[in-house]
Amino acid sequence: MKISVAEQAGFCFGVKRALKLINEYHRQGKKIQTFGPLIHNTPVLNKLAARGIDQVSSLAGIDKDKTLCIRTHGIPSSVEGRLKRKGVPILDATCPLVKKGQKIIERLGQAGGQVLIVGDKNHPEIVAARSYARGVKIINSLAGARALPRCREISVVAQTTLNTEFFKEVVAILLDKTEKLHVFNTICRATQDRQEAVRKLAPKVDALIVVGSRISSNTKKLFNIARGINKNSLQIETCADLRDKKTLARLKKSASIGISAGASTSPQELDNVKKFLQKL
Ligand code: SF4
Repeated sequence: MKISVAEQAGFCFGVKRALKLINEYHRQGKKIQTFGPLIHNTPVLNKLAARGIDQVSSLAGIDKDKTLCIRTHGIPSSVEGRLKRKGVPILDATCPLVKKGQKIIERLGQAGGQVLIVGDKNHPEIVAARSYARGVKIINSLAGARALPRCREISVVAQTTLNTEFFKEVVAILLDKTEKLHVFNTICRATQDRQEAVRKLAPKVDALIVVGSRISSNTKKLFNIARGINKNSLQIETCADLRDKKTLARLKKSASIGISAGASTSPQELDNVKKFLQKL
């Protein structure tokens, strides 16, 4: 069985940075908790919890004696304001690329015109991003883009983990909705690289495995891209998911298997999957 790993897979710059920040802080003996899951990776979150780095999901749950670490996806500006007013010490691990999108939205909001974000309205990154300007609309489908009324001016940004081809399709529809269209390609490089690597690998292998959390937006997109090219694609969270009888039988029939992984999948998990497949 030939096993190939996508040219770009696993931990991205933003995730590595967040883990480095929190680990350095913890090594200094400081007490810390995270506001929501730091990244979408259950084994990594379990390890943090085992070291006493717990998670809070609401302002009410915050322990004022601990520093609050802001997750890679960021938080709404109103929540940040409330934390500052309460005097909660903050360690900001928001990915700089997510921050860049927030700043663009803030600037566009001040300039006027309709601001659009293409992405999932329930994803924490978008919940935070939309707070940076008034009247921001979120769209996540071509039908949603088509249903928009005509406007004098539209500015559009993307969720950092959006499928680049989908963003292009939405932009093409928006061209008919206004005379002034400003497009900000805020899809991050790490996401684009991982998507391109999957597009390259998927047609060359008999089966393709995408490793990553089921709640990870970028992993979901990688899997959808893979499945669109290679029907024999599957998404797993950890190597343990490969032990299922049906999955094993399916993989054993494949002469070549490709592996890709979302931006919050650790190199160890990627390696575990590779070693598991090598033993088949
Ligand atoms: S996927 Fe991109 S935007 Fe998200 S944390 Fe990683 S580098 Fe930052």
